[in-house]
Amino acid sequence: MDPDTPQFDIPLAEAWIRAIAAAVEKEQSRLTELDSAIGDGDHGSNLQRGFAAALTALDGLQPAGPGAVLTKTGTTLISKVGGASGPLYGKAFRAIGAALPEAAGPADVAEALSAGLDAIRLLGKAEPGDKTIVDAWTPAVAAFRTAAATGAGLPASAAAAADAAEQGARDTVPLQARKGRASYLGERSIGHQDPGATSTALVFRALADVTAA
Ligand code: ADP
Ligand code: MG
Repeated sequence: MDPDTPQFDIPLAEAWIRAIAAAVEKEQSRLTELDSAIGDGDHGSNLQRGFAAALTALDGLQPAGPGAVLTKTGTTLISKVGGASGPLYGKAFRAIGAALPEAAGPADVAEALSAGLDAIRLLGKAEPGDKTIVDAWTPAVAAFRTAAATGAGLPASAAAAADAAEQGARDTVPLQARKGRASYLGERSIGHQDPGATSTALVFRALADVTAA
């Protein structure tokens, strides 16, 4: 392996969580607005509280590897966020953490992210097209995996995933929600972007930003 190729190491894992926390803080009111339209308006504050708590938890942690950073993040999200998104993102980060080897290259990260998506689907039972975070995670993982398989490094793979997640989030607008609170609205959920798919795009953009830095 080219020694200049960035690996997914402990500092990168910590930088990712810090970047997500900053993005969620910045976009909190937008996430809240989206969740006010088709949910109960707490998605921004849920994630802000969860990722702020994750940063505090990481402060005192001496992680054994990058996976431990993400596992701790996931555990914190599960314990601090009451909404649907806490357990879903929490399980995802725990699964990513469990799947990551110590110095992960792009293909390892692709597999770990895929394990994260599997955990979300196992818990939430959402299919692509149900207007949930799955609609951003699915194309993001596919794009990451395709990029990594064709020899792209972490920055290019993560950038492809972030682009795909953002497109996936936009593509939720015409969908009718079939899972979560938005599903109670039936056809009235059509015409709004899903808040969770939108926050998933922030998660993948944060990864692209820190791998490119
Ligand atoms: P709550 O719906 O409990 O208020 P949040 O507002 O924090 O929780 O999160 C809402 C988001 O969670 C939705 O926009 C959707 O993307 C996601 N979500 C809800 N239920 C599911 C599910 N079963 N599977 C996947 N994602 C889901
Ligand atoms: Mg909500």
